[in-house]
Amino acid sequence: MLKSIIRLLLKIFPRPFLIRLSLLINRIVALFYMGNKVECPVCNNTLRKFLPYGYTKQTGRDNALCPHCLSLERHRLMYLYLQEKTYFFTKNLKVLHIAPEQCFFKRFRALQNLDYTTGDLESPIADVHFDVQSIPFADETYDVVICNHVLEHVDDDAKAMSEMYRILKPGGFAILQVPQNANAEKTYEDPTITNPSEREKHFLQKDHVRLYGLDYAERLRAVGFKVTANTFANNYSEEAAQRLGLPMKEIFYFNQK
Ligand SMILES: [Zn+2]
Repeated sequence: MLKSIIRLLLKIFPRPFLIRLSLLINRIVALFYMGNKVECPVCNNTLRKFLPYGYTKQTGRDNALCPHCLSLERHRLMYLYLQEKTYFFTKNLKVLHIAPEQCFFKRFRALQNLDYTTGDLESPIADVHFDVQSIPFADETYDVVICNHVLEHVDDDAKAMSEMYRILKPGGFAILQVPQNANAEKTYEDPTITNPSEREKHFLQKDHVRLYGLDYAERLRAVGFKVTANTFANNYSEEAAQRLGLPMKEIFYFNQK
């Protein structure tokens, strides 16, 4: 729908006008959210608040999306973790980013210290197309693999995890965040639930095949990863975490080979 509107606009109006129009819309959004109550650590803009976000009643919430760079709570958490706890922004690294997020891939590609490749099943913005259950790279190719919110879509997640472990160099690390039910000890999966609306009810989204529980770290350890897990946002004061729009309950997994 939006695509066809954009296509129509592109046909009717000359390009310079459209560029001015999109700048105007951006400026109006920026005006509406102008302020200094929250601060996005990814793009460094300050705002009155973040935008609401979420597909369903269960996942919808206020104060989530940065209108400037489109980061969500979990993106800001990962960005800060990489900045504060790793050498991601300084060391020369070979990085594979699978299903690259809008708010990250241009920023990461611009980092001079990274040899940066993006991968996806079919996204046109990805450099290489593949299935995570069978990754077309040699053993020990990458220093870093980032693959967030993918494993909950994959039939054989253990195979995908072991593929990512295989292509990592010894000493490298992977960031593999997933939606998780922190109240459940065990991951909930049932291959007989295939109907999209049933999947949404049981696993949060129409195309999810499971909902991870607190045993997620065990699954990662089972393929070889050394896993450190903590609610990283709790390293900040409540005030600071609110200002940065961080998910206080999200467990962050740092997975080393
Ligand atoms: Zn931002």
